[in-house]
Amino acid sequence: MTGVRKKIRGLPVSPGTAIGKVCIIGTSHVVKKQRIRHKDVKGELEKFKDALKLTRLELEQLKEKVSVSIGKNEADIFDVQILLTEDPYLTAQIEHKVAVEHKNLAWAVEETLQDSINSLQKIDDTYMRERAADLRDVASRILGKITESQRECFIDENADIILASENLLPSQTVGMHTKRIRGFITEHGGATSHAAILARSLGVPLVSGILDLARVIPFGAIAIVDGFRGEVILNPSQDRIRYFQKLQKTILQREKQTEKLAKLPAVTKDKVEIKLMANIGSLEDALHAIKLGAEGVGLYRTELHFMDRQSYGSEEDQYLDYKNIAQKMFPHPVVIRTLDIGGDKYLHTDLSYKEPNPYLGLRAIRISLRDPDIFKTQLRAIFRAATLGNIKLMLPMISSVEEILAAQKLIRATLKELKKAGIEHNPKVPLGMMIEIPSAAINIHSFLKIVDFVSVGTNDLVQYTLAVDRGNEQVSSLYQPFHPAILSLLEIIGRAGQELGKETSVCGEIAGDPLFTELLVGFGFRNLSMSAPFIPHVKLRVRQLYTDECKKSSQKVLKFSLSSEIRKYVEKQLEANHFAK
Ligand code: PEP
Ligand code: MG
Repeated sequence: MTGVRKKIRGLPVSPGTAIGKVCIIGTSHVVKKQRIRHKDVKGELEKFKDALKLTRLELEQLKEKVSVSIGKNEADIFDVQILLTEDPYLTAQIEHKVAVEHKNLAWAVEETLQDSINSLQKIDDTYMRERAADLRDVASRILGKITESQRECFIDENADIILASENLLPSQTVGMHTKRIRGFITEHGGATSHAAILARSLGVPLVSGILDLARVIPFGAIAIVDGFRGEVILNPSQDRIRYFQKLQKTILQREKQTEKLAKLPAVTKDKVEIKLMANIGSLEDALHAIKLGAEGVGLYRTELHFMDRQSYGSEEDQYLDYKNIAQKMFPHPVVIRTLDIGGDKYLHTDLSYKEPNPYLGLRAIRISLRDPDIFKTQLRAIFRAATLGNIKLMLPMISSVEEILAAQKLIRATLKELKKAGIEHNPKVPLGMMIEIPSAAINIHSFLKIVDFVSVGTNDLVQYTLAVDRGNEQVSSLYQPFHPAILSLLEIIGRAGQELGKETSVCGEIAGDPLFTELLVGFGFRNLSMSAPFIPHVKLRVRQLYTDECKKSSQKVLKFSLSSEIRKYVEKQLEANHFAK
């Protein structure tokens, strides 16, 4: 396809470059509303029948796939959606709107299904609200079949694809290992949105902040995504394509060289060991992390395991998943974080539920304490899987000691139940917590007295300290991990850990940024956990450092009052070290 050559500026969110054909996906379809002529009615009704048939087929295939890869219970969920495509009442309504009211098919489908979704959502019953989510999914699939855009996307199964979306959901990013998705373009989403983190761990470039995406990025256009510069080049010339292909080869070669580092130890020049671990969202991530030299998993975001399905999964499913990962990582530790649903991470079933302030609302531990059954199921799975002795348990988004006490009560109850039922488990799993809310950082001593370890989640700590939505590209320039207040909090946490002899780690994105390594080591952190592709880069940096110099640097930057000064200082330090090599 040819088209206007254009360069569009956005934000560089996940590095790398990709070339492919644009496919636009979205939770909302742009539906053109048109009155049709009498002679077009027959054609529209036939199109409807075809779309229903295709949707049913797609759902049956999906059911089969889920049944094999996840389990029969999860697969049965698709039965509800298949039944909805056969609902005579809904079908008759749509046909009436086309045949009698002469509305075009997309309009008739959208209007009918939206009315039903609205009615279901008004009913104060969780089961009915979940059916609204099913109906929305079905509506989206049918509309996808009858709008040009989606056909363009799925015709070309062998082409490399650039996925463009107004808002990329984490559920759309997970499970993409096997697909031919080479790059992402989004309108919304900052550098530490979960979709961005996932894109980085998959090694897929992402450019966000493309204003008015639906209008400026045409379906099917050839696009280059430059995740280094934060640019999208539409319909590039052959010369430009060749240039980027060459660049990709060079990057690949450089990465192979860095991977060789995997076998070298992560020790400073004065022989202090810094444990470099991986943040994972799946077993595949864990396997990839081992190859890149990870010495364990410092953060398993367990919610990602559920996000491409419609339910939390059974205890057995979770147990097998955790056990598998613990075995693969043995003897290295695996820190399993309990569910961190909320913010920008929702299960399919939750899509119909929107909070006015999701990051300040029902998220993470707040959901676990509100729904103890879901929490206890996960705890049972963790304690059962922990018999090898390398699993640790971590609680997300803790803001008060009361939350830890409440969680500990549920932990004790779960262990009692397992013991009573004679189920094999490990009752001695270390308990840790994330430090990602300023209150937890400020009161770090109180927390360290009642937990075994802490891990600093700077992605959220920056968001909550600076009052900047991590997923909002409009305020991304205010999202400053180098902010002096963030460094002061890191210093407080690192020092408290040393005073009380408790393990402190960092697992936010800064742990994978070599610019930060010197400061984190200086503040006393000896465990860093990051997306696996960054491990070799941070290792390279660790091997250039002396801990006493790190300490001096970290104390020095605490006197600066501008984020830019701090950044400039560490950039200079990094450069100096490279030249010294
Ligand atoms: C963090 O907040 O830094 C973190 C590691 O957790 P998540 O990115 O999953 O919120
Ligand atoms: Mg977090």
